[in-house]
Amino acid sequence: MGRHAIITGGSSGIGRHLVSAFVEAGYDVAFTHFGDHGAAEEVVAETGRAGRVRGFSSDVGDGEAVSLFMDEASDWFGDAPDVLVNNAGIQTWSPLLDLSEESWDAVIRTNLKGCFLNTREAGKRMVKAGKGGAIINIGSGCNKLAFPGLVDYTASKGGIEQFTKVSAVELGPHGIRVNCVAPGAIETERTRAEAPDYAGTWGRVTPLRRVGTPADIAGPVLFLASSQAAFVTGQTLWVDGGVFSQA
Ligand code: NDP
Repeated sequence: MGRHAIITGGSSGIGRHLVSAFVEAGYDVAFTHFGDHGAAEEVVAETGRAGRVRGFSSDVGDGEAVSLFMDEASDWFGDAPDVLVNNAGIQTWSPLLDLSEESWDAVIRTNLKGCFLNTREAGKRMVKAGKGGAIINIGSGCNKLAFPGLVDYTASKGGIEQFTKVSAVELGPHGIRVNCVAPGAIETERTRAEAPDYAGTWGRVTPLRRVGTPADIAGPVLFLASSQAAFVTGQTLWVDGGVFSQA
């Protein structure tokens, strides 16, 4: 498998760790972020690998911006991408009957449409280059359960799982594998802010008796990107410490 990876939403949490892990594994990494907050420079400094990692401000839900980003990233790589990780995502909490149209649209646009647009644009470039590729979509373990307050988020992540299966069938003949990683409860700045004792609460109910870390997600994503997973496509890998297997 080649060495050019695109990671959406690489400025914080799981995505930020994915960027570092792919750089460590020898990939050149182009990642996107949404806010204009200097995250790109921070990640470059953190990895200590200027020249191998570059951040781009690009909205995953905007088709033109995604196409432009894919061109810029390919120019920077000097080649088409080999790997795409659709990680960017947002989550809001609201009971269904109070959920605003704006909130529904924002979640579906970022999580599901973003996955579609980046897959379409990276896929076109991978097919044209004729060297195959690997796409990994970040879903969510919450699809196994019905979490009240997460109807928009769960719909978007359920969509990603099905999107993964159909994309895998369509892109398989081009040597492009598409899989999904569905994380359980992973401690990031965002989830820590959601609940005062996020790690304790989830750690107590997880069979492995701890909350997950971004590093727990990076390993399986790197595996699915690698030639070790050369015959794996259309699958969802649950990376949740067993917590959602109890459903
Ligand atoms: P964070 O909020 O820490 O990171 C989200 C990333 O997505 C940021 O880099 C953010 O960029 C980027 N982003 C948001 N909107 C856009 C947009 N419109 N265009 C481009 N980038 C955007 O989240 P996590 O690390 O916790 O989650 C990462 C992924 O993992 C998400 O898909 C989430 O649903 C999934 N997940 C997380 C779990 C967890 O427990 N943490 C559990 C299950 C799934 P910026 O900072 O610039 O806004």
